[in-house]
Amino acid sequence: MIRFNVPPFTGKEMDYIKKAVENQKICGDGEFTCNEWLENKTGTTKALLTTSCTHATEMAAILSNIKPGDEVIMPSYTFVSTADAFVLRGAKAVFVDVRPDTMNIDENLIEDAITEKTKAIVPVHYAGVSCEMDKIMEIANNHNLLVIEDAAQGIMSEYKGKALGTFGEYGCFSFHETKNFSMGEGGALLIRDKDNIEHAEIVREKGTNRAKFFRGQIDKYTWVDAGSSYLPSELNAAYLYAQLELANEITADRMHTWNMYFDAFEELENKERIERPFVPADCKHNAHMFYLKCKDLEERSAFIKFLGENGILAVFHYIPLHSAPAGKMFGRFNGEDVYTTKESERLVRLPLYYGLKEEEVEYIIGKVKEFYKR
Ligand SMILES: *Cc1c(COP(=O)(O)O)cnc(C)c1O
Repeated sequence: MIRFNVPPFTGKEMDYIKKAVENQKICGDGEFTCNEWLENKTGTTKALLTTSCTHATEMAAILSNIKPGDEVIMPSYTFVSTADAFVLRGAKAVFVDVRPDTMNIDENLIEDAITEKTKAIVPVHYAGVSCEMDKIMEIANNHNLLVIEDAAQGIMSEYKGKALGTFGEYGCFSFHETKNFSMGEGGALLIRDKDNIEHAEIVREKGTNRAKFFRGQIDKYTWVDAGSSYLPSELNAAYLYAQLELANEITADRMHTWNMYFDAFEELENKERIERPFVPADCKHNAHMFYLKCKDLEERSAFIKFLGENGILAVFHYIPLHSAPAGKMFGRFNGEDVYTTKESERLVRLPLYYGLKEEEVEYIIGKVKEFYKR
């Protein structure tokens, strides 16, 4: 069976975990907590490793002072965490339709969803392909709204040469085992403005100024604000560290697979049997995901079944949030759902992970072509 995903493993992970144990430093913010690596790689002002992307987004919601009754604009075609972080603070999720070409929030529909209650826009960079950030930042500036980027899938991706997660006040990465780089469960919060760093450090460490204490800026630390526990263990950070060292190699390996799929299916797209992903000219992506779009839900079900019978695990993706029970409770869809439901029902993802072999990719390509010969 060719699995859909295998968590990344480079070989040095066990050595680094052992080193963390030997350091006798297994709580967070030791030598393997890679805040600086993330800062250098993305150019953000400050990065903080967190226990998940969900938690990074929750931190962003706390730091943005999201309150009951506030509205937050986001796509419905996303993972639950995008909405959860804000709903937990009592806000309403206002869903906007996606563009069918990138599956990202349609930047031209955002303004229509803005009310006097709107506090923030949360663009989700689907498949590591950027949203139209120039337009989104312009809307946010004109209406005095915050931008919190769900860049869970977006590490190593760029828009006009600038790293995803660095446009808005906050950007959130995920290092879940399904992402390009992993620590099992983990994430990071990117902070754009210097003025927000101190508060973020306090929220991350149970409402204390412990970060300042460790830098020797104060002689003892104390409880200074409301906070929680978003600092991951060094054991998890050590696992991630081994992959960040090989970030370029892992990305190149994934890109090779992505390009093999993309080139192989050109003919099927020309014959209008399927659609391939679209990457706008301004976007550099990270080969997080390779998907195809079938004709409709019925064809997709047959396609997934056919691949499964041939030992290939292909999977669909999000059920739009506005049609889920919690989405109905905590959100509303602004405007018409022209593409969100229809396109989500056609989309199917093919196996893509670090270390997937060329012969396996060729086998998968062959089976996809065989299905479409029917
Ligand atoms: C993976 C993912 C998340 C959640 O990440 P966790 O680290 O598991 O909390 C949020 N949003 C999107 C778009 C994701 O793909």
